[in-house]
Parts: sequence; structure tokens; C-alpha cells
Amino acid sequence: MSPKHVEQMYDALIVGAGAAGLSAALGLLRSERIAQMTQEGRAPKILVVSKLQPLRSHTGSAEGGIAASLGNVSEDDWHWHYYDTVKGGDWLVDQDAAKLLAQEAPVTVINLERSGVAFSRTADGHIAQRKFGGHTAHFGQQPVPRAAYAADRIGHQILHTLWQQCIAQGVEFAEEWYVTDLVLDERHERVEGVVAYDTHTGKVHALHARNVLLATGGAGRLFHTTSNSWDLTGDGMALTLEAGLQLEDSEFVQFHPTGLAHTGILISEAARAEGGVLRNSDGEAFMQRYAPGHADLAARDVVSRSIMAEIDAGRGVADPKDPQGPRDCVWLDMTGIDPEHMHAVLPQVVETIEDYAGIDPTKDYVPVKPTAHYTMGGIPITTDGEVYTWADGARHKVTGLYAAGECSCVSVHGANRLGGNSLLDACLFGQRAGAAVAARIADSHAVASPDDNAVAAEDPSQDAVETTAQTRRTELAGLLKPTGQAGENTGSEASSQPQTLQDDNAYQLLADLGSAMERALAVRCNHDSIAEALQLVNEDFAERARALHTHSDSTAFNQEVTAIWEVRHLLELAKAMLRATDARHESRGSLKRTDYPDRDDKQYLAHSMVASTGTVAWQPVHILDMPPQAREY
Ligand SMILES: Cc1cc2nc3c(=O)[nH]c(=O)nc-3n(C[C@H](O)[C@H](O)[C@H](O)COP(=O)(O)OP(=O)(O)OC[C@H]3O[C@@H](n4cnc5c(N)ncnc54)[C@H](O)[C@@H]3O)c2cc1C
Repeated sequence: MSPKHVEQMYDALIVGAGAAGLSAALGLLRSERIAQMTQEGRAPKILVVSKLQPLRSHTGSAEGGIAASLGNVSEDDWHWHYYDTVKGGDWLVDQDAAKLLAQEAPVTVINLERSGVAFSRTADGHIAQRKFGGHTAHFGQQPVPRAAYAADRIGHQILHTLWQQCIAQGVEFAEEWYVTDLVLDERHERVEGVVAYDTHTGKVHALHARNVLLATGGAGRLFHTTSNSWDLTGDGMALTLEAGLQLEDSEFVQFHPTGLAHTGILISEAARAEGGVLRNSDGEAFMQRYAPGHADLAARDVVSRSIMAEIDAGRGVADPKDPQGPRDCVWLDMTGIDPEHMHAVLPQVVETIEDYAGIDPTKDYVPVKPTAHYTMGGIPITTDGEVYTWADGARHKVTGLYAAGECSCVSVHGANRLGGNSLLDACLFGQRAGAAVAARIADSHAVASPDDNAVAAEDPSQDAVETTAQTRRTELAGLLKPTGQAGENTGSEASSQPQTLQDDNAYQLLADLGSAMERALAVRCNHDSIAEALQLVNEDFAERARALHTHSDSTAFNQEVTAIWEVRHLLELAKAMLRATDARHESRGSLKRTDYPDRDDKQYLAHSMVASTGTVAWQPVHILDMPPQAREY
């Protein structure tokens, strides 16, 4: 659906309709002051813009669960959740944010339940919870079931529930509209609005807003092997960089240990939580050796590195689909799980393995390898979702700009996220950001006299949003080539280089970028691997990105237009990620630098803050009551 008409000025624009964007919309509308304004006939003007139909957002693919100490297990308590989150993030976590996450987790889950999420149940009717990597009690001594689940479809449940609630509240959506620009004032201190491209008609809109909230999800498509859907191209992060702001901790990318061989499709951690075991080519359950306390349920970075160590030692296995191919996988053995139980609690996992690998996990070992899964870093925000920059030793907020969910970094995940904490982050901090926007709207309506931002219009040359939209329209006209002029090459094999720039296309560039980033950063890296990728990104790929054009001049549903903008966004992000990675001379959490193998708290107990120029500033980590310790599982 597109909005019936575009308003002159929005009180709030929410970009993204996954768990974070929808939670923000609900957090905003459920604020008492907004309800009051609505009753008085002064309902604020709010629009949710999403490049996908909301129910196609990646949140819907989440499988395993959402973490919370619900009190169903006597040993568990939010303090342990807090401790595990800080330890899981290798002490790069802001402890005030993590404390809030753990404390507010139970009420967040209960609210989801009351909104309609159909959780699986225990025999006595409680919300069912399963063990997940790194979730324990008693300082890591005892794994506890903390991930509240709905079979292996928690994301589907949450996304549909939040969306239904939004529809019930009358939220207006601009679906399949792609945001191309974030517009700030000249000093980068205040938000002015966004520019959005309606993919149905090809029309570029200038959307003015007093508040903009970015909830655009992750950037897994930076890598060739990824669990992420095709839309996860880091748009919000790139928009932030392009607007002159910074990203925090962008060097931390989680590689989930169990991507299905040669597809990268996620085999949920729930498979190991229910009894699945990783085995090498000798049949050995090797995780016992690397993490004697937690074995297969150690934190994800630990398990992924252990898998790579086995492969390096020659104990990897080849994908049975390609027996002569590289031995770059290990086995996931699920045959010890009772088949009936497996079908009951892991139906989606079973179906994925049957459909994509053509094998039966109740009888056969499943070939898996690490897959790019989650971006721990992102747009720096406070615990109320306010976006800030870090300069001169202080945070400087950008008035009216907010972010939430995977595109943001409130710093609860630090250098490595624990399973189940991401949906929680998106729902909790999405809701909090929405509430903060609501307060700002109510405050400004209470004091506002004439329309302070009635920008738009008197002098169009002063209207930054319209000016940016105009630039975008001109660029778009240049991208759209008359039919028949362009080359025929639409190949997507990473190996087939385009013959000329004229033959090139966004999908080929995406594949080449994915391979380069995988070679440079997957699971481990060093200065040389980073430098090689940076050179490609800055030179060859940059030139190719500039030369891209579409192969049809249609403006209606021309997906190649957005594919071009997406790959350009990924390049912007790749540059920042590579620079930040190069600047951190240590190994911590998901970042394993073979040239700096140890953690260095003296120098790097700090968040990297990288700008599009490549400069990196360092922001100290908030430590409350847990000074750094050695991290063992
Ligand atoms: C396969 C898989 C399984 C997972 N399992 C779990 C799990 O069990 N537990 C857990 O806690 N986490 C899990 N995660 C992680 C978790 O699902 C995500 O981090 C979380 O759902 C992200 O929510 P989000 O709202 O930030 O983003 P998303 O749900 O990705 O939504 C992003 C939204 O932004 C919109 N958008 C993006 N760019 C633009 C643009 N330029 N213009 C307009 N709109 C735009 C999209 O249309 C979309 O609506 C899993 C992730 C994957 C990939």
C-alpha cells in the first residue's frame, strides 16, 4: 500500500517495518500523551516507510527464540542474563544498556504474549524456553533455558503479531518505498526528513519530518555466504555515513556456526539446543575439546572459530553434493534427537535441510559451515534510541534522529551477540525509541505555535529535502537506459567478471563484493586481507559502482534501480567496516585478527566510531559493576 497522499510535514517517519520499526510505531502510538492528542483531534502524522511489504522483513525468519529470565526456572534471574550478555560480548558491552536489556526482557516477552504471540508451552502452561549458547546461571556454571520459543518460528510469530497490532492502531504504511537519502541540516545537528523512491511508480518523494527513526535491519549481504535475506544491504547504516555521521563498532560481524553448506541458510542454534552435536571428519564431537564447560552451546564466535580450526587442521568434510569439492564444512549430527520431538520443535529446520540439502536429519549428518549472520555494530544510539556522534570526548545528539534494531548499536551485544538477544534488542529498544519520539512530539505540540518546520516551502531553494530529492531525480534519469542499449550480461557467478563496464550489473558487483569481503573478514582476518579488500572497494568496485545503469528504462517495479542503490550502500559500509577493522589491533569476540591474536583492554576497551572519511575515534565502554575478566566457556 502507498499512502493516500504525502503530507507536507510528518511528525514522525519510521524507516523499516521489522520488529524494531513496528515496535517503535506501537511504542509511539501507545504513549498516553499521543493517545490524548489523538482524542483531542490532534493526531500526529506518522508514516512507516518500508522497502518490503512489512511481513517480508527478515525478522520473520528468526527461528530459535527471544531471551528473557522469565522466572520459570528457579536458578535463573535477570542478573545472570546481564552477566552472560556482558561476557558474551567480550566486555565491549555498555553495561547500563545491557542491564536494562536483561531487566526489561521479561516484561517485553510478556507484552508480546499479551499482544498475541503464540509461544510454545510447557506441560504446565508456562511459556516454553530452551537453552541457547552462552545463557547460563551462576557465572557460567550452569546452562539454563532462557530462549522463549514458538517451535522454530519465533520471528514469524512476532512479526505477524506486531504488524496486526499496527494495523489495528491505524498505522499508515508506504510499502515498497525505498529510502535513498537521510537529510540533515547543514551542521548535521537536526533531521529534516528523507527522500524515498516509490518502486511501484518510480516517483521520488521529498518527505519532510520533525522526527526520523531508522530501523532498516542488518547488512549480511556484504558477504557471499550469509543467513540474511537479500534485502539486508545495510541501507540505514550507509545513509547515516553518507549524511556525515558515524557508525559504532562496525568491525564486529557475527558468523553463525551452522550455515547449511553452500547456501549459507541458517540452521538455527535451536538444533544444538535440542541435542545436535558438531562432528569433524573423524566423527569426533570436537567442541568438548575447545569449550569443555559448554561444548556445542558455547558462544557463537567460539564455535565458529573452533569449526575453522578443525577445517584448517584437515578435519573438515566436503559437502556431499560436491564430494570432490573443498573440505570446508563439518557435520551437524542431529540423529540423537528423537525424530518425533525433532519434527515437533524444529519443523522449519527439518524442512530446510530436506529441501536444500536433500537429506534427512533424523538419519543423516548435515554439512554446515559458518555463515555471516549479524552486525553487532551500527548507528550509535542512547538507550532512548537517540542517534549521536562522538567528538571531543562527548556524545552529541542529532535532534529528531532515532534508530533501533539491528541497524543500530546501543551496545548491548559488544563484540559478540548471544542468541535470542537480538529480537529482544529490536522489540525493547524499538519500543523505547518510539516512546522517546512520542515525548518529543507531545512536547513540541505543547509549545509549538506556527509550524516551525513549515520549511517546505516558502523558499524551495532553502528546502534541503526537496533539493536532495531533485538531485536524486536527476541521477535516476541517468541510471535508466533506453531499452536495448545495455549489454546482456545478467550473470551472478562470483567468478565471471564483466567484460566491460557497459556489460556490468548490480548483481554481479554484489557477488564480487561478497566474495572479496568473505576472503578479507570471514571469521578471521589480518592487515593484509583487509588491505586487499579495501583496495578493491576503493578502486575497482567504486569505478564499477559509478558506471552502473539499468537494463530497462521502465520506472514501474524496476528492481534494478534499487539493486544499484543497495550495492552502492554496501560499498559505503564495506569501506567503513574495513577501516574500523584495520584500526583495532586486537582480537575480541567475533573479531579474530591473526596478526593481533590477544585482547588488549589497555588500548581497545573502547567503541570504534568510524566516519565515511575513514577516520576512527574511540569512545570508552560504560562499565558499571563488571570489570573485564578472561572469557572462557
Ligand atoms: C535466519 C535468521 C534467524 C534469526 N534467528 C534469531 C533468533 O532466533 N533470535 C534472535 O533474537 N534473533 C534472531 N535473528 C536476528 C534477528 O531476527 C534480527 O536481528 C532482527 O529481526 C532485526 O530486526 P529489525 O527490525 O532491526 O530488521 P528487519 O526485520 O530486517 O527489518 C528491516 C526493515 O527495514 C526496511 N528497510 C531496509 N532498508 C530500507 C530502505 N532503504 N528504505 C525503506 N525501508 C528499508 C525493510 O523493508 C524491513 O522492513 C535471526 C536472523 C536471521 C537472519
